Amino acid sequence: METYKFDKSMELFNRARAVIPGGIYGHLSPAVLVPGKYPYYAQRGEGGYYWDPDGNRYIDWMCGYGPMILGYNHPKVEAAVDEQRKNADCFNHPTPVMVELAELLVDTVKIADWAIFAKNGSDTTTYAVQVARQSTGRDKVIACKGAYHGAHAWCTPGHGGLTDADRVNVLMSEWNNLELFRKLVDEHPNQVAAIILTPYHHPAFADSVLPAPGFYEGIRSLCDRNGIVLIIDDVRAGFRLDLRGSDQYFGFDADILCFSKALGNTYPISACVGRDDLRLSASDVFFTGSFWGGGISMAAAIATIKELKETNAVAHMMHIGKLLQDGIRETGAKHGYEMSVTGPPTIPYASFACERDFMRQQVFCAEVTARGAFFHPHHNWFISAAHTEADVEHTLAACDEAFAIVKEKFND
Ligand code: PMP
Repeated sequence: METYKFDKSMELFNRARAVIPGGIYGHLSPAVLVPGKYPYYAQRGEGGYYWDPDGNRYIDWMCGYGPMILGYNHPKVEAAVDEQRKNADCFNHPTPVMVELAELLVDTVKIADWAIFAKNGSDTTTYAVQVARQSTGRDKVIACKGAYHGAHAWCTPGHGGLTDADRVNVLMSEWNNLELFRKLVDEHPNQVAAIILTPYHHPAFADSVLPAPGFYEGIRSLCDRNGIVLIIDDVRAGFRLDLRGSDQYFGFDADILCFSKALGNTYPISACVGRDDLRLSASDVFFTGSFWGGGISMAAAIATIKELKETNAVAHMMHIGKLLQDGIRETGAKHGYEMSVTGPPTIPYASFACERDFMRQQVFCAEVTARGAFFHPHHNWFISAAHTEADVEHTLAACDEAFAIVKEKFND
């Protein structure tokens, strides 16, 4: 296969470094990728593909880190957006589509009796914690080591600009360690307002881990016995496991669910939904942002949810994801590599079982990417409804070549 060059990406990055701190920052930063071996910018997208400024096309297995779920430029979503755009976006008031979207979410998501909207996932996870505090009159929240709930001070994995006070009310537990959750609750009687969890554990720089049998049963009853609000941060997994909420996929009911990413098929929107008994507390927490009432993203979200439902998109994504997961496992084995393939099929991740320093992983993902299928080395991937069996085939052919290169390079 021909491999890509990234000259225009590098040119743009060099310009950016002069005028933007870090050039590219946050999760889009190329700092953890092999320098010069990846695209740094995206020019345009269509369906399951995007093109970089050098004109290279990628099968997008990252889906913009999750927001793309139906395909870029999806005709039905774009039609809804165009319609709303004709009316303008941001007013002195919310637009009628806000009511329609809230009704649709309450209809779609099992535990939802109300819905409230913002722009980013972090907005809603922070809000959910405040609602739990307001409702319980308690301060503490229990989260899991390695889980990501956003970039706000109480939960950011970053370092700069924080004070010790930002974290004093956050107790850290461990994924699947029910005993530790129980111990933390016991040690802080009547102090824990919320337990916040992602539906399964999807840390960066590590394999994904599903809930152990009995884990959620234990968490749910711990919350019930102690009057703790169970918040499920479905920002990443939402709408890729079960449209009724990822709690339903794992067989339990959350008290609050946070959504963002896939909700608007690339348009900026997040939502927090919750049970009726939290409605009053939900309205007691001041929650706002200049752009949060904008109708365009809400119209996009309505069109996205309807299309996901009508096309049974989750089943298709599960099928494609399973093909990719099995294919990577088999192609790796052909080259003598055991691949650790983790996560649900729609949010897969694969890494070399024989290493924990990511050296092979870095080379492997860069070589696959340079052959037209975007793989991130340290962050889980995403499947979209636009991806096809042919995309999997192309990707596995790229993997085949990439494994051979890794084998030679590392003398395996
Ligand atoms: N929670 C989870 C599980 C996430 O994956 C993310 C984003 N990666 C967030 C919260 C924060 O969302 P945002 O970046 O939109 O603030």
